[in-house]
Order: sequence, then C-alpha cells, then structure tokens
Amino acid sequence: MNIELQICGLVMLMIFLVLIERDRKLNVKNRLLFIAAFGVCIICLIFDIASIVCIHMAVYEGFSPMITRGVCKFYIMLLVIQGYCGFLYACLDIAVQFKVRWIRTLAFILFLIGEILIIVLPIDYYMDGRIVYSYGPAALCTYALAVFFIVFTLFLSLKYRKDIPHRRLIALFTWQGLWLMAAIIQFISKETLLVGFAAALGMVVLYSQLENPNEHIDRTTGLFTQNALSLYLQDKYNYKKPFAFYTARIKYLVPTAGLEIKKNAVTRSARAFLKLGKEPVFRIGDDMFCVVYDTPEKAYEKLMDIKAQADGVTDIPVEAKFIYFPDSRMLSGTDEVFDFIHSYEDSNESILTCDTALVEKMRHRSGIYNLIENALRDDRVEVYYQPIYNVKERRFTSAEALVRIKNEDGTKVSPGEFIPVAEENGQIIPLGIRVFKKVCEFLATGELQKLGIENIETNVSVAQFDHENPAGFVKDHIETYNIDPECINLEITETADNELKYLLLLNMERLIRMGVTFSLDDFGTGRSNLDYFVSMPARNIKFDLSFTQGYFTNDKVRHMMKGMVNIAHDLNMKIVSEGVESKEQYEAMERLGIDYVQGYYFSKPIPGSELIEFLKEWQE
Ligand code: C2E
Ligand code: CA
Ligand code: CA
Repeated sequence: MNIELQICGLVMLMIFLVLIERDRKLNVKNRLLFIAAFGVCIICLIFDIASIVCIHMAVYEGFSPMITRGVCKFYIMLLVIQGYCGFLYACLDIAVQFKVRWIRTLAFILFLIGEILIIVLPIDYYMDGRIVYSYGPAALCTYALAVFFIVFTLFLSLKYRKDIPHRRLIALFTWQGLWLMAAIIQFISKETLLVGFAAALGMVVLYSQLENPNEHIDRTTGLFTQNALSLYLQDKYNYKKPFAFYTARIKYLVPTAGLEIKKNAVTRSARAFLKLGKEPVFRIGDDMFCVVYDTPEKAYEKLMDIKAQADGVTDIPVEAKFIYFPDSRMLSGTDEVFDFIHSYEDSNESILTCDTALVEKMRHRSGIYNLIENALRDDRVEVYYQPIYNVKERRFTSAEALVRIKNEDGTKVSPGEFIPVAEENGQIIPLGIRVFKKVCEFLATGELQKLGIENIETNVSVAQFDHENPAGFVKDHIETYNIDPECINLEITETADNELKYLLLLNMERLIRMGVTFSLDDFGTGRSNLDYFVSMPARNIKFDLSFTQGYFTNDKVRHMMKGMVNIAHDLNMKIVSEGVESKEQYEAMERLGIDYVQGYYFSKPIPGSELIEFLKEWQE
C-alpha cells in the first residue's frame, strides 16, 4: 500500500508532539492556533492512511464502499480545514487591523460552504497498484478550496508583508509553499502521495521557526524572557483583554555584591515565583521579574504573598522592590508598559502602584525624551546668550549660554522644561556636548572677542562629569576649534552625591590646569551650601535670581549677601548677580560691591546674532 510517506509524517509529528507537550507554554493566540493546526494535521494524516487502507480493502477484499466513501470524504474535509488553519494563522498578525476583517468573514463563509458541498456532493475512488486517489465533484471541490486557501494565504502575506515580522513571513511561505508544491506533484504523478508528508514537514518548519518556546525561555532560571513578555502582552492588548501585573526587582544592599550572591538571589526568587501559581513568570532583566494576572485582586493577593516571602529572607543581603499595575487599560500598549517599568524601576518605594498621575508623569517624560532626541537629530538645539555686565569696567565682558529647543513650528521650549528630564535620563550628555560645540563654534569666529567679550559661561550638569573621560568633551572641542581655554567658563551646581563630587573635582582640576575657569551657579538656593562654596575651586560665584531679588525684600538676605561679598572678595572670587531687572536693582548691586550683573535690565537671553548687534551698540 502507498502509505509509507504518510506514516513517516505521522511518526515525525508524534515525536514533535512529545516535545511540544514538554515545553513550558505561553498561551497566546498564535500558539493556540498552532496547536489546533498541528492537531488537524495529525488527524488528517491518520485519515489519509485510513482512506487508503479502506480503498485497498474495498477494491480487493469487498469492504463496504459506503464506509470507504465516508472515510475519503472526512479526509478531504480535514484537508480543507488545514488550508483554512493556515489562512487564519497567517491572518493573526494582520487580523487585528480592521482592513482584513471582511476578508476573514468571507473566508469563513467560503470554508463553510465548501465543507457542506463536500458532504452533499458524490465522491468515488480509484486504485490500481500504487496509484490511488478519490475523485468526483466532492474531491474537485476540495482541490479548488485547498488551493484557493493556500494561494490566498500567500497573497495576503505578500500584500501585508510589512505587518508580519520577517521571520514569520519566511516560515509561512515555506509552510504553504511546501504544500502547494506537494499538491502539484501529486496531481501530476498520481502515485506520489506527498501532500500529507508535506503538511507534516510544514508543521515542523513552523514549530522550529516560530513556535519553539525554548526561544522564550531564560536559560538560568527557566522562566520566560522579556521577548516572551512582549509577545504575551501584545496578544492581550490585541484582543483587548485587560490584565494586572507586578514586577519585582532584587536590590542588593551592597551594590558591589558578588556573582555568587546575585546568582543565588535570582534562582531563589525564580523558584519562589514558580511556586506561587500557574501564571507565567518572566525574567525581564538581570534582576527583575514580572508576573501577569487576569484580575487586579489576584495580582495583589499574590504580590502580598511574594512580598511576605521576600521580607522573610534574611540570609542574602537583598531586598525586593515592586511595581504593581492594577489595570492594563491605563497604558496604551506594550511599549508603554515597558516604558513605565523602566521609568520607575529605580524607585525606592517598596511597592509602587501605577496610577494615572504616574502614567501622566511618564508620558510627559517620554514626550520630553522625544523632543530632545528629535531636536538633536534635526539640529533644533539652539543656544541663546545673555550678556553679563562688568560693573567696574562699565562694559560687557561675558555672556551666559542658555540652551533652547526650537519646536518644529518655530516656538521655543525653555530649559526649565527639559533639563531636569535630560539629567535624569542621561540625554544631558549628548545635549551638553551639542551646546558646548555651538558655544565653541561661536567663539571660533572671533567676533565676540573683538567686541570685548572675554569668556562665555556655559552651564554644565554634574552628570556630564560622571563619565569615563568626562573632561574629554571640553578638551576635545577646545582643541578642535582652536579656542583659548580662558574664553571658557563653566557654571556648575551643587551635588549631594559624594562620588560625583569627587569626579567633578578631579575634572575641574584637570580643566583649570588648561586655563578653563568655573563659576558656582545658583548660590543662595537649595542647590548650594557653604561646604560646596568652600571646597570648589571656582573663580566666580553666581547669586541666584531669588537671592538677588531677596536683597530687596528680606532683611536677612540683605545681611547675608553683604557678608558673602566680603567673604568672596577675601577669597579672591568674583560675584555675579543674576536676575537684575531694574535700574534701582542695578544701582543697589553696584553699591553692594557686586562685580558682574546679569538680568533683564540689560537684556534677556538672545540668539548669537542679536548678541553681536547688541554688543556693537553698547560697547565703545
Ligand atoms: P540659570 O543657570 O540660573 O540661568 C538663569 C536663568 O534665569 C535663565 O533661565 C535666564 O533666562 C533667567 N534670567 C536671567 N535674567 C533674568 C531676570 O532678570 N529675571 C528673571 N525672572 N529671569 C532671568 P533659562 O534660560 O530658562 O534657564 C533655566 C535654567 O536651565 C538655567 O538656570 C540653567 O540651570 C539651566 N540651563 C540652561 N541652559 C543649560 C545648559 O546648556 N546646560 C545645563 N546643564 N543647564 C542649562
Ligand atoms: Ca547658569
Ligand atoms: Ca543661576
């Protein structure tokens, strides 16, 4: 009997069935459909073999022709189901979009009509040695439909190839292509019964390329990976299934904890999570886990369980931090989920609950992130300059560089909105470099120097010195643009972090040796203290706008400022008063002995070209 190939296919699928059974499963739509297609393929092979056996017995041993026809019919009906499964599977990536809904409905109706036709139409069979087939209107109907589904699937996959991940597309083509080729060969050479085997081969391709869950398993812990979480959540969002989840992060009490401690903490946590229940557990970072639940109540209950366990662990020096998401609908999709997790993963709260305020904050921050990214890319980072008046010399000898971002519509965003975010997310590094580069370009023209400007003060954040070769960008630009280092003054502010302070000092010393000078910015605000004033090798100290304004409204501030002027001058430091807005204020500062004055009284921050015009008008 001509059933060797089919038996091979069946054996192959059985082996894979065992493998699939052993896998840890992630129940997403894709997978359910794959399992369905796999099952249909097995049943189809069994009936393929059964129909050949029946035909053989009917032809040679007088077996019931009616039962034989029934088995043949059932077999070809399964073939159509298989074709339909392939179509559905291909649709998954594109199905969520409205554009293919009607196609799916149409395909379903066609499928139903086809199956009914196969049931009612007559079928017959033929056998001669190794040549065996069924024929008649029902068989014709099957061929037409199966081929239609294959071609249609290929067509759809091609048409919407942008919506389907590349790897998926290739696997789909291989699967459907194998089928089509086998059907053609079988049609031409009647004794080569390839279709069943090709379908089985297709399943194996699909499994190894797309549905192999081992790809989604983390080797150390046996948990699902971050990619798997991404798929899983995407599936939930696609089918509008709300969910709740929490993440847990291991925080080592000693940041330099050894590898052994880390490994121990990770494997023990993984085990604890697995014991909690049957919900999938994901490892989404070196020391972060995530468990997804259908309801917030369940998630919260389990969160409390695992927290109690974590709190009870005393023999490894770690603690656990949790982020709890009661409702997935607060976030727009998978990307936002990950954004949220990353935004708050360093939170110090033992349980941080996601609420609308936090989501808004995150959206604001990611809006700013994009603003800065795009501005850097499209060169919309601009530097404005505010002239600084030298009281003794009665002219402008300096200017402060202040960054602006130009929106696409030309409006400006002020640094107060984006600098704090940039400092948090690290964009301050590229942004600071861009600003400094522009300042250097401006200085390199030599125009400022001709108009009596001795230096440009540029704001730098301490984070810009938290770098392997931090002073590097300053040094590099000074050399590239061939600028006198004495034209560079950097404004720095207080930092509470001792390590940063150490790095900052180290770099300041390097740059000071080159000739660069420093100013202590924001003096008189929460961002400055006396220790800072004492320990920083700065040449200038800048009285903050609020401090300057306080001089006119607050007795204590007035006395402090007087004292500070004396101290600074004793230490050979110069003082800049910011935020001077009127003639009276300027005169008061002059009487107080302030060396430099900056403020709207003279000029707001203006673009470089306007600064040149301004200086031409004011300097003799
Ligand atoms: P800052 O260093 O204290 O800069 C002075 C701020 O006071 C500027 O605001 C300036 O426009 C404003 N100002 C100047 N004179 C007056 C005045 O008479 N009255 C009033 N009400 N305000 C005055 P701006 O440009 O919005 O900058 C805000 C802050 O952003 C700066 O404060 C600085 O800390 C930061 N920043 C600006 N550019 C950069 C930069 O390139 N890098 C870094 N790291 N920070 C920057
Ligand atoms: Ca400043
Ligand atoms: Ca300031």
